[in-house]
Amino acid sequence: MFSIPPLETLIERLENPLFVEKGVSLYVLRLDKLDKYISGNKWFKLKYNLLEAQKKGFQKILTFGGAFSNHIVATASAGKLFNLETIGIIRGEEILPLNPRLQFAQDSGMALHYLDREQYREKTNPLFIETLKEQFGDFYLIPEGGSNALAIAGTAEILSFLPEYPVHFDAVCTCVGTAGTLTGLAVSLFNTQTQLIGIATLKNASFLYDEAYKLLESGQYTQYQDFNILLDYHFGGYAKSKPALLQFIETFEQQHSISIEPVYTGKLFYGIFDSIKKGFFKPSSNILVIHCGGIF
Ligand SMILES: *Cc1c(COP(=O)(O)O)cnc(C)c1O
Repeated sequence: MFSIPPLETLIERLENPLFVEKGVSLYVLRLDKLDKYISGNKWFKLKYNLLEAQKKGFQKILTFGGAFSNHIVATASAGKLFNLETIGIIRGEEILPLNPRLQFAQDSGMALHYLDREQYREKTNPLFIETLKEQFGDFYLIPEGGSNALAIAGTAEILSFLPEYPVHFDAVCTCVGTAGTLTGLAVSLFNTQTQLIGIATLKNASFLYDEAYKLLESGQYTQYQDFNILLDYHFGGYAKSKPALLQFIETFEQQHSISIEPVYTGKLFYGIFDSIKKGFFKPSSNILVIHCGGIF
């Protein structure tokens, strides 16, 4: 199947004059090292969904994503491992040649189908899902981005090593796309002295709080750590970028030999570094940043 190392072995401490100046320590949980394709947070979001699909005897999984979706890549790869057929409903028109992510998904056996943006917006409408079942036969549905109640159960396992870990972390930081990762971390950090911080990669993303609360409610999670979503590091919006971000990524990669990308983890580290500069974290804080993957 898919096995992962003890996650505490994926922690690296970064050295940087900025951390010395501000008196903080910064650690990275390298979830990007888990797998080339089922990378970062994606395994955790898929795990209990795949087990549920198997348990219920489904042969097919259907999910949604944009043309550059890491979730599509991970689902295609994991479907193959679990012997489940996969169908990927892709937003927008087919563009040939396929980009490397979609090509990989197709090569892994995923059947790709395209919907125009208007139809794609129906992706959570039960009547629309019924029409998809008429078209493709019965399937186990995983929502766009892979976030649902079972995803929380998976992402809540990311930090299960923390109680035994020799370092106490004052803050845990993650990227936020659909909040499936943030909410799982919130559940696992309940009743701890660890602050939870998300960096939004979308513009005008205050709605993410509601999304997060809805997700928690769908899983009947009532006990979770409060979280803060920093909304000012989107650089123009999802998949948008600015020279300052690209410059930061280049310098970061040179200094730390860790690959990051402009959609999620570049904004994450930029936001954390900037927050450290601004004194957001108290001196002597230990900060754990979750590298959610996304390098293809
Ligand atoms: C999918 C993805 C995210 C988004 O995670 P959510 O659980 O949807 O918030 C963040 N970072 C990377 C690298 C991703 O691939």
